[in-house]
Amino acid sequence: DTKVETRQFQAETRKVLDIVINSLYTERDIFVRELVSNAADALEKYRHISLTEKPEFDKDVPLEINIDCDAKRHRLTITDTGIGMTREELETNLGTIAHSGSGKFLEELAEAAKKDINLIGQFGVGFYSVFMVAKRVRVQTRSWDGSEGHEWESDGAGTYTIRECPGLHRGTKIIIELKDDAEDYANKFTIERIIKQYSNFVPFPIKVDGKTVNTVQAIWTRSRSEITEEEYTEFYKFIANAVDEPMYRLHFSTDAPLAINALLYVPKENYELMGMGRMQPAVNLYCQKVLIDQHSEHILPEWLRFLKGVVDSEDLPLNISRQALQDNALVHRLRKVLTKRFLKFLADEAKNNPEKYAEFWKTFGIFLKEGATSDFEYRDEIGKLLRFESSATEPGEMTSLDDYIDRMKEGQDAIYYINGPSRSAVEHGPYVEMFKKRDIEIIYTLEPIDDFVLSHMGTYRDKKLVSADRADLRLPEAADKEDKGETPAETLPEEQVKEICSFIKEVLGDKVQEVKPSTRLVDSPAMIVNVDGLMTSSMERVLRATAR
Ligand code: ADP
Ligand code: MG
Repeated sequence: DTKVETRQFQAETRKVLDIVINSLYTERDIFVRELVSNAADALEKYRHISLTEKPEFDKDVPLEINIDCDAKRHRLTITDTGIGMTREELETNLGTIAHSGSGKFLEELAEAAKKDINLIGQFGVGFYSVFMVAKRVRVQTRSWDGSEGHEWESDGAGTYTIRECPGLHRGTKIIIELKDDAEDYANKFTIERIIKQYSNFVPFPIKVDGKTVNTVQAIWTRSRSEITEEEYTEFYKFIANAVDEPMYRLHFSTDAPLAINALLYVPKENYELMGMGRMQPAVNLYCQKVLIDQHSEHILPEWLRFLKGVVDSEDLPLNISRQALQDNALVHRLRKVLTKRFLKFLADEAKNNPEKYAEFWKTFGIFLKEGATSDFEYRDEIGKLLRFESSATEPGEMTSLDDYIDRMKEGQDAIYYINGPSRSAVEHGPYVEMFKKRDIEIIYTLEPIDDFVLSHMGTYRDKKLVSADRADLRLPEAADKEDKGETPAETLPEEQVKEICSFIKEVLGDKVQEVKPSTRLVDSPAMIVNVDGLMTSSMERVLRATAR
């Protein structure tokens, strides 16, 4: 008690405290979830460390979370036997916001709080939510390395103190003195209810006044037939901190080439589309039920960052460090197997339930497009999943490239597409005239990124993907030769055609490279085409816009 230090919270931390305390007020229950999830994280970390470092200190203390409700003294205590914190860790973890670029993080947080307070659960504000209910909080903690224990104390108003605290066991004890209007959180039935709602799948016993209240078993290792729909949905809400129900679920196991148990979910909403900032990976990597890498960046490509869930592989070395994951050959194989399996799942869903897949495409298609432009490895699998409007679909309806190919004309060896800001703009433009006339289907790429996707892919099932604004475009010969007679080159004498072209070139000057007669127009007098075919006009527009 001799060395008490008083510190100011970092300015950002104070802001977070302010946002959390003021905007989450009606969702106070979630502070229990946040503290329990921190306790579970600390236990997971200890379980991993005990395999890699073989620590001696307090090594026989069981891995569990104990919650003590003291209704008389309006006090709630949450104790875990996880890794604990050293003095420095205590200061960094509970005095500052560790997130990189915290300014941006705060903006997103404030935005989220305005839109939907439930979204705030997606952000790592965790610990500070305790001040929604607490007058005063003490955190007593001792690291797994056996160094001296410390107590952190604060009322959440701007400062905190840290002092030495001898005689602690490994782990962390959080003692909460409840505000007068939050006394109910010292009621054990309230706490049990909240744990069942939010923390049921924490893989360590959570004991309330000595009795275990959660389902400790790892759901993904159980057989599919034993798991109910409710359990699956509950687990999704738990793992994704979500309030919605998932759109898709994929639970599978493999033995070769790797032994894998995976349970993956597609959420219902795409928060990136809602302007909530970039999603972070949210699939956890386990090895024989031991958490190796939470929210792993290594086991799925970045463009699948919308997936939530767990992957467990017995083949990974249990003591692998997080740093080693990046270059590990097994992890690379794991990533490939998972990605292919998930894309196959989507293809099956698209076939068996096209309406639902259309919904998925609307919400998450942008991620697959990102994959198509960044990951050549899965080109064919992603190509199968792409959807576009075309001259053969009703407005708002979509077609796949496979269906397009089925409808291709005899002699047609390419898939054609044209970009435009809207369907009607495209349909009234000159590029589609000859397609219409010859009854050749053309895909409408109505999003600027679509041209990048298709030109990056280059081919699909051996068919070239060709933008209709290319100068060298050659449509398959029309069945009826009548077409020929109407082409300007033949209705005007060649000499005059040349004169008109050079007149137009003179007027336009450097704005165009060349003016040539064409057989591609039906009603329009002229159109602008793309000479080198490297970039479509819409790609150029995008690049010009981003270069500004
Ligand atoms: P997050 O869990 O998203 O990192 P929190 O605000 O919930 O954010 O917690 C901040 C940090 O404090 C955690 O990352 C962890 O390092 C530390 N911490 C919180 N609770 C515990 C605990 N019970 N045991 C050990 N460390 C903890
Ligand atoms: Mg947390």
